[in-house]
Amino acid sequence: MAVPRHRHTRASVGQRRMHIFITPATLTTCPKCSAKVRPHTICKKCGFYKGKEVINVLGKLTKKERKVKEKEIQKNEKEHKHDSAVPDLTNGK
Ligand SMILES: [Zn+2]
Repeated sequence: MAVPRHRHTRASVGQRRMHIFITPATLTTCPKCSAKVRPHTICKKCGFYKGKEVINVLGKLTKKERKVKEKEIQKNEKEHKHDSAVPDLTNGK
């Protein structure tokens, strides 16, 4: 069995491990419901991808759950539309 020749100091171990870390996931906003979504993936909240409905989000819900979800989606869309309707004046310096 291979046996290490020398003891590794804490510094050298630390230097080796400085490149070992998890990067945070990059997120984009869904153009329909403005939820945080990973790029090139279907939005799980509204089921849309590239402007088309891919998943029927309301399909497997009960009547009560569906009502809540529909309300949530409508609210999000309204907020998003309101945001995009306001012209961006901060860039014109
Ligand atoms: Zn969405």
